[in-house]
Amino acid sequence: MSLFTAVEMAPRDPILGLNEQFAADPNPHKVNLGVGVYYDDNGKLPLLECVQAAEKQMMEAPKARGYLPIDGIAAYDSAVKGLVFGADSEPVKSGRVATIQALGGTGGLKVGADFLRKLKPAAKVLISDPSWENHRALFTQAGFTVETYPYYDAASRGVNFDGMLAALQATPAGTVVVLHACCHNPTGYDITPEQWDQVIAAVKARELVPFLDMAYQGFGQGIAEDGAVIGKFVAAGLTFFVSTSFSKSFSLYGERVGALSVLCDSKEEADRVLSQLKIMIRTNYSNPPIHGGTVVATVLNTPELRALWEKELGDMRLRIKQMRIALVEKLKAAGVKEDMGFITTQIGMFSYSGLTKDQMVRLRNEFGVYGTDTGRMCVAALNSKNIDYVCAAIAKVL
Ligand code: PMP
Repeated sequence: MSLFTAVEMAPRDPILGLNEQFAADPNPHKVNLGVGVYYDDNGKLPLLECVQAAEKQMMEAPKARGYLPIDGIAAYDSAVKGLVFGADSEPVKSGRVATIQALGGTGGLKVGADFLRKLKPAAKVLISDPSWENHRALFTQAGFTVETYPYYDAASRGVNFDGMLAALQATPAGTVVVLHACCHNPTGYDITPEQWDQVIAAVKARELVPFLDMAYQGFGQGIAEDGAVIGKFVAAGLTFFVSTSFSKSFSLYGERVGALSVLCDSKEEADRVLSQLKIMIRTNYSNPPIHGGTVVATVLNTPELRALWEKELGDMRLRIKQMRIALVEKLKAAGVKEDMGFITTQIGMFSYSGLTKDQMVRLRNEFGVYGTDTGRMCVAALNSKNIDYVCAAIAKVL
């Protein structure tokens, strides 16, 4: 009898399981569209030039590595505020945003969830149906009961907006609502600016607590365009949470660069909130690491590097859009009768392809084309070399 006799084997992460199966697949044509990662046209994970330039600067002026402040690098936090709210925006100028450097977007969500759980122990959390897998797990682990609001509508290949709005309007005050700020994962369907206005009105009327997850800023329409939704929440006079991830936008997945920002009513309130966020951090991992945060802060705060980043991010965004267009055209050329045009109305890295589980399993087993059982495919992993093969495979299973 050991201490761990009763410990159950936890279920495997579905995406990691897919990656392992992919790695073991001997098919020379295999393509992994199960990942949530941007690859370039050569199928490689990019190392951005702006990142290399920042790292060169850092290497030329090497520094000793003391502990960072609990909330991270000051220049990083202020750059995040600028990116999320606008450097000259009223919330930033008045000092009513509390921002902490977090371990990726996941870390930002977790620090926010832990703080919220202390603040509102009885609140429920609503996530979209479907949502990024980890939303449910993360908020559950933080102690919340997690439920969903309707989001994807398979029949109309879009958002069940009426269902979403009705659910929000029927939600008890104080409920935490997790919203994808842009590039919804996994569906690829975002709501329109007018629909955001209605969501905001419901959030305000019902006194809900908005938690915006911004993991793909810059992958939708552009950095400012994707961030515009934040301005809408500010204009409505709401207080809210925003998690930021730079994993994709800087291609710095393994550096764990992200943030949490909390918009408060006043600077004095933001100071108190920040002091509590710091306790969450201090008792969890004490303080964040230096390298990735310094890279991002250097790029965002150096005008030439920032311009280079915006260009490189713009190139990634454009390449994904081109892949969407090519996918629609090539599926048609491969003999698919169904109109696949919806793929170009989706946005960000993913596409809910509409393929069934059986079709996804066939794609995997017969063609080595890997996507999730839900039909999600990562468009950012397609390239000019693998797209014809993928289209031919899809045409065969459809
Ligand atoms: N939120 C969403 C919607 C995501 O898709 C991801 C990453 N896949 C994250 C948060 C987490 O980002 P990070 O890897 O920076 O922790």
